[in-house]
Amino acid sequence: GRSFTGKVALVAGGSRGIGEGIVRRLASDGAAVAFTYSNSEEKAKRLTSEIEAAGGKALPIKADSASADDIRAAVDQVVKELGELDIFVNNAGILIRGTVGTYSLEDLDRMLDINVRAAFIGIQEASEHMKNGGRIILIGSNTAVRTAFPGASVYSMTKAALVGLVRGAAIDLAPRAITVNNVQPGPTATDMSAPHAEAVKTLVPLGRMADVSEIAGFVSYLASDEAGFITGSSLTIDGGYIA
Ligand code: NDP
Repeated sequence: GRSFTGKVALVAGGSRGIGEGIVRRLASDGAAVAFTYSNSEEKAKRLTSEIEAAGGKALPIKADSASADDIRAAVDQVVKELGELDIFVNNAGILIRGTVGTYSLEDLDRMLDINVRAAFIGIQEASEHMKNGGRIILIGSNTAVRTAFPGASVYSMTKAALVGLVRGAAIDLAPRAITVNNVQPGPTATDMSAPHAEAVKTLVPLGRMADVSEIAGFVSYLASDEAGFITGSSLTIDGGYIA
């Protein structure tokens, strides 16, 4: 692990899957890690106990990414309990599939609210309470580069939006040496990808899905001092899917 001792991190959407992997990794790197969840209260509590039993520090916060007030309150709570932020990771995301002809406006709005609007609000709120030299990392998707499947227009659109968002935010926050990047995983073994596991494997040259620890290790690198010259970038980690 890295030495993140004394650093404060917030992971939006950290109770399961990739977010859980990131929470575990940043905590084992030594950071005090707050994370949000919306439904998975039991999982969030169990994750917190496991991290604390291993000598780490975790702070679970119930906050719906669809609500700007919840995001703001979560950041305020972290600052109050753990201090100003060093690292913010926006991982919370949803996948509602559907082809162009059948997609409802309600689903469209929900996808935009959680996958895009929350990412911008998270950057806005977190950067306001972030130390100079801090790190902001969004979790996008390699579907922004290669969609490959029917029924993913809206999902791909939301993830492509993040590519532009990190460019603009990186420039705005550069005077404070805060870097802003977008990690684009390919198929990764989680609840979200489980229904499509067999189908996607055939599209990955490496012939398997990523383990969440592989995505988390990359996030840890981007959060480190060593990665201070990487900003405004969308970086794909996908076993060769877009190659
Ligand atoms: P999961 O569905 O397995 O987990 C999603 C996580 O986000 C959970 O912790 C969930 O918390 C949280 N979350 C969802 N909605 C909200 C909300 N409204 N407010 C707060 N938290 C929320 O997803 P993955 O781990 O697979 O995906 C994580 C990210 O990675 C997403 O942005 C996804 O698009 C992206 N991604 C995933 C890939 C994959 O193959 N798995 C590939 C490329 C990108 P709770 O259970 O409490 O609601």
